[in-house]
Amino acid sequence: MKTNNIRNFSIIAHIDHGKSTLADRLIEYTGTLSSRQMEAQVLDNMDLERERGITIKAQSVRLEYTAKDGETYMLNLIDTPGHVDFTYEVSRSLAACEGALLIVDAAQGIEAQTLANVYLALDNDLEIITVINKIDLPSADPERVKQEVEDVIGLDTSEAVLTSAKSGIGIEEVLEAIVKKIPPPKGTVEEPLCALIFDSHFDAYKGVIAYVRVINGIIKPGMKMKMMATNKIVEVTEVGVFRPAMTNVSELAPGHVGFVAGSIKNVKDVRVGDTITDADRPVAEALSGYRKVTPMVYCGLYPVDSSEYDLLRDALEKLKLNDASLVFEPETSSALGFGFRCGFLGLLHMEVIQERLEREYNITLITTAPSVIYKVFKTDGEIFEIENPSKLPTPQEIEHIEEPYVKAMVIVPNDYVGVVMELSQEKRGEFKDMKYLDVTRVMLTYELPLSEIIYDYFDRLKSATRGYASLDYELLGYRESKLVKLDILLNTEPVDALSIIVHRDKATYRGRILVEKLRGIIPRQMFEIPIQAAIGNKVIARETVRAMRKDVLAKCYGGDISRKRKLLEKQKEGKKRMKQVGNVEVPQEAFMAILKID
Ligand code: GDP
Ligand code: MG
Repeated sequence: MKTNNIRNFSIIAHIDHGKSTLADRLIEYTGTLSSRQMEAQVLDNMDLERERGITIKAQSVRLEYTAKDGETYMLNLIDTPGHVDFTYEVSRSLAACEGALLIVDAAQGIEAQTLANVYLALDNDLEIITVINKIDLPSADPERVKQEVEDVIGLDTSEAVLTSAKSGIGIEEVLEAIVKKIPPPKGTVEEPLCALIFDSHFDAYKGVIAYVRVINGIIKPGMKMKMMATNKIVEVTEVGVFRPAMTNVSELAPGHVGFVAGSIKNVKDVRVGDTITDADRPVAEALSGYRKVTPMVYCGLYPVDSSEYDLLRDALEKLKLNDASLVFEPETSSALGFGFRCGFLGLLHMEVIQERLEREYNITLITTAPSVIYKVFKTDGEIFEIENPSKLPTPQEIEHIEEPYVKAMVIVPNDYVGVVMELSQEKRGEFKDMKYLDVTRVMLTYELPLSEIIYDYFDRLKSATRGYASLDYELLGYRESKLVKLDILLNTEPVDALSIIVHRDKATYRGRILVEKLRGIIPRQMFEIPIQAAIGNKVIARETVRAMRKDVLAKCYGGDISRKRKLLEKQKEGKKRMKQVGNVEVPQEAFMAILKID
């Protein structure tokens, strides 16, 4: 097919505005899959993604469409992950395109991720086609939403397409707009091979599969390709396209989107954003924008049953095969025993990995509260990073500490501006900007410590605004903060896995609430358990779990054996997520209690 008849595009949208549904309709309309093969939301193919209605891994599909002008076009739809944790992946998927469909819910209007994604698309110079979706809803107000897109983003919406992806309205108009408005790829076969890696996955038989967009040159089996960031050279064994099942082809030419395999064993060698070139005739320069993704959030993962440690390591290794952004290393906690400290792109990424470990590998885990990476500047001149609060040196050794800050964008109805400001202030946020989107909605910009976002900012934002607020954020960099380590002692023994790093001004308050919470969470035992919060050697709060008066089983001594067994079983259930710390049983909730404070 002529390069002129190729269109590469993405769909960008705030979560739930209808991206997956529209993608399904496009696939259906172009007959890429028969209706028998068509399963709702074919692109969200991981079970977990489908259940949670989110896209984690970008998928891609090649469609063929015969337009009203009589020409047949090859349309490559590159799906993007729909969550703030994966912004970099989104930006690379967009870099593989010439255009994007911007979907906005006709009832809801612009939300935080709409804007974040539009900015990424504009950064990549994409042609943007505005699609106002869900026009079937009684509360739809396409005119108001169009106006909002004009005012806030500055896009001309006179040719916006109105759709109902659900009922199949406007699908042909979307396809026609793609063909007419999005420019065809440039690029030539004569130049040396240059292809952008926008995603990858591990296949047990073929090794790592790189998802690529060819810019210049040809890639085909037999040639030697080189990944420029890692300098890895391998022979290409297969190339193909997504229909959406992977289908081999003889070669990929300029403008094409597809996959490349070459018996690569490690996803680390195939990095998103990297450039593939011909090892025998390399390009001088790699494509711009490559960045090594680094974890932002860390937590400890410990098997409840220590005999499952090897199982956990194997499972993490398997998950890592498919996920270069997951990092882990062995960690020992005096409280929890042997486990791993794991790094994730963000909270959602963390939850997804935890859930997969439990579901797919059947491991019962104790997870410690998530932490950001702190930069510690010691008085002796040493600078190092810690991702585990218990590793913080003593206050005497510390000159100062820096923590990551983000720029957060919150969109809310007017009425909630006050509560959002209050919450953001409480979370150490610095007010930056407030802008009216229309007469009823406002966009607030704050700079906040990432750790506060991880604590419970989003949950509280949602509840304070009855679910109306949307949030997006991006990393700004490190800033100095007055931080201290808060230790928790059970039965006078410090529990390393419960240590947290908090702002000095909040330490006493948080310490007090935390011990109060722990008193409610830690079950009574035969002896009294003091719970203390301390900063350095100074105890700042104390509570006591009273000793149990009687054996619970005593009640059952009436001979009713089945009732007794039930009770024992119930206790065993309850024990599933407990860890013996010294002589105290600590349930999982205790390690997460810190997230539910304030
Ligand atoms: P995504 O998160 O952007 O991928 O959104 P989905 O495609 O998963 O859609 C989110 C929800 O909106 C689902 O329940 C869809 O059925 C629904 N939805 C999508 N498009 C439309 C539409 O045109 N009209 C209506 N009424 N609902 C829609
Ligand atoms: Mg979706």
